[in-house]
Amino acid sequence: AFDVLVLGGGPAGVAASIYTARKGFATGIAAERFGGQLQDTLGIENLPGTLYTEGPKLADELGRQVSENGIDLMDRAIAKKLIPAEEKGGLHTLELENGATLQTRALILATGARWRALGVPGEQEYRNKGVAYCPHCDGPLFKGKRVAVIGGGNSGVEAAIDLAKIVEHVTLVEFDKALRADEVLQNKLRSLSNVAILVNAQTTEITGANGKVDGFVYKDRESEEEHRVDVAGVFVQIGLVPNTEWLKDGALELNRIGEIETDESGRTNLPGVFAAGDCTVEPYKQIVVSMGAGSAAALSAFDYLVRHAPA
Ligand code: FAD
Repeated sequence: AFDVLVLGGGPAGVAASIYTARKGFATGIAAERFGGQLQDTLGIENLPGTLYTEGPKLADELGRQVSENGIDLMDRAIAKKLIPAEEKGGLHTLELENGATLQTRALILATGARWRALGVPGEQEYRNKGVAYCPHCDGPLFKGKRVAVIGGGNSGVEAAIDLAKIVEHVTLVEFDKALRADEVLQNKLRSLSNVAILVNAQTTEITGANGKVDGFVYKDRESEEEHRVDVAGVFVQIGLVPNTEWLKDGALELNRIGEIETDESGRTNLPGVFAAGDCTVEPYKQIVVSMGAGSAAALSAFDYLVRHAPA
């Protein structure tokens, strides 16, 4: 059995594993895909201390740090069930899809999240070539250009407000008859002179030329007419889905949208089970935030292990 098993090999999981390994605990990482969302990320310019890097390169460096610290890495390992310890200090069991089971005294869940995709033609083809999901990350790439934000909830409207400061013009596209964001955000958005708002508009295609986005097509849901808008970027903001479906019917507390409930130190409702990063209720889904949360969860696990002798 492990002292500490970390589930997930993204920034949160790796940070957690480095901390517990350096405390001298036998630490393992089980991950479906080592690197997590970093494997899908092109340029990273907001990681303090690193002027510029690319997702897969950062994932490689994290991989080196994992092996330097003697952490047991199990890649392509997908968890399907958690059986929590029956008493404090007891062993938690994780069942994997390949039939194996892993046991650990402390468990750190860092399974991350995935952006909800629109599912229209052009979206996959132009991903990272104008189709973006993270305004904090990719907004500056569209400086002085025209962009669209798809989604009129809080994240879409916040993204549009944020982008309007950098880009030339933002078109916000909402499928429903009205925006769903908080009133104060909607008012702020409407006060901006370089923003247009389309409601009742169904995005049907993202178009491109020469390997880059050049616009999108939407259908006016009332008139059924199709329109095309020229933009250099499309930010899809229709939700982030935590990778916690497999935990849904268990004893671990999740919120309404499936995020793991944690306190400020990464403790969950189950003794000896901790969580960090994009799979939790943490509102800011970013690399540096996930790394910080991973280290905090690891220190909480350390605190738990030194207080509870093996059962
Ligand atoms: P993830 O990176 O999602 O890692 C989750 C890990 O858990 C993966 O290893 C996954 O395979 C594994 N996993 C999931 N389910 C299971 C399971 N059942 N069993 C086993 N393993 C499982 N943030 C920034 O700060 N700057 C940026 O420039 C930036 N750009 C981005 C660009 C893109 C295209 C995307 C998608 C995200 C970007 N982000 C950026 C956000 C950032 O990548 C995330 O906030 C960060 O990766 C979250 O880390 P995490 O460890 O919590 O989760």
